[in-house]
Amino acid sequence: MNVRCNYCGHSFSLGREFMAMAVPQALEKRQKSVVVECANCRKQVKVPVRQMQRFVPRPAPDAPEESLEESEAS
Ligand SMILES: [Zn+2]
Repeated sequence: MNVRCNYCGHSFSLGREFMAMAVPQALEKRQKSVVVECANCRKQVKVPVRQMQRFVPRPAPDAPEESLEESEAS
């Protein structure tokens, strides 16, 4: 995902792996944005978590059949 620095206009990309780590952490802390460091000017750029979530695949259920069973049982 591409992020544009508010300060210097430099655009850089965030790795999927980084986002996959940062998004759950931010959600856990109830943060609405993740702070990343601009590769160019080293300032801190806030990236909205919601924006990142679009690029992070949801944790897939290991066994979809099981969750189906659960919902049927209840
Ligand atoms: Zn910058």
